[in-house]
Amino acid sequence: MAILSDKTALVTGGSRGIGAAIAKRLAADGASVAITYTKGGDAAARVVKEIERAGGRAIAIQADAADADAVKAAVEKTVATFGRLDVLVNNAGTAIPKQFEEATLEELDRVIDINVRGTFVATQAALKHMREGGRIIMIGSCVGERMMTPGLVPYAATKGAVKMFTQGLSREVGSRGITVNNIEPGPIDTDLNPAAGDWAVPQLANTALKRYGHVDDVAAFVAFVAGPEASYITGANLTVDGGTNA
Ligand code: NDP
Repeated sequence: MAILSDKTALVTGGSRGIGAAIAKRLAADGASVAITYTKGGDAAARVVKEIERAGGRAIAIQADAADADAVKAAVEKTVATFGRLDVLVNNAGTAIPKQFEEATLEELDRVIDINVRGTFVATQAALKHMREGGRIIMIGSCVGERMMTPGLVPYAATKGAVKMFTQGLSREVGSRGITVNNIEPGPIDTDLNPAAGDWAVPQLANTALKRYGHVDDVAAFVAFVAGPEASYITGANLTVDGGTNA
């Protein structure tokens, strides 16, 4: 039997990149999966179709992580559709690379609202439905631990916040048998962080493996943390970063 059969997962920002890979992997492991997106309705529909063609169950919900009501509604729709919620993957995230002193207040708010506030809101809403064995999984970043390059100051600060949110929350919900963990990717080839181009050069140099990672590298790790064999892992910050933080 698939390790996540009878489980339901919600992956925020699941229409492209790391989130789409996580959604497909959790579905392949047997979970019913809901994904959220903002603008990429077609891409989200393709993820759903791909999961359904493989015999799985999935829905896509438009919900901007910065819109608290939309995020709460997405959680409720997931539960209404599949009857339960076992795994929340807080993947929706963004970066606006530039020198800190040049960032506008609107840009700072946007990064904080998606990466931190959206994560808080989704997690609160999800916890209302989670039972023993529940899994809250953040997609943080290796730059939430250590910073090697300029231009990502607010982004790194939000990922540092996600790290401490993980550790703190693990202490509150552990007695309910719910784990809270933070997966910290290094450079992963996506639209947000393409492996080709000037921006990639310093990131590659900082990896021990001298290459970018693939979205499936992150998805496999998330699937493990979502599964029954990870039941004694909580409050942990787990890098999948090619040795960037080694
Ligand atoms: P992408 O930009 O490639 O994909 C982002 C996904 O999130 C899309 O499905 C997008 O949907 C959705 N999304 C974007 N903004 C929002 C929003 N406000 N609300 C809901 N959904 C949204 O990003 P990645 O896959 O690269 O990144 C995913 C996560 O991984 C982020 O948290 C990022 O910080 C983290 N990460 C990524 C790394 C990398 O190297 N790629 C490294 C470390 C961490 P739509 O098209 O509809 O907007």
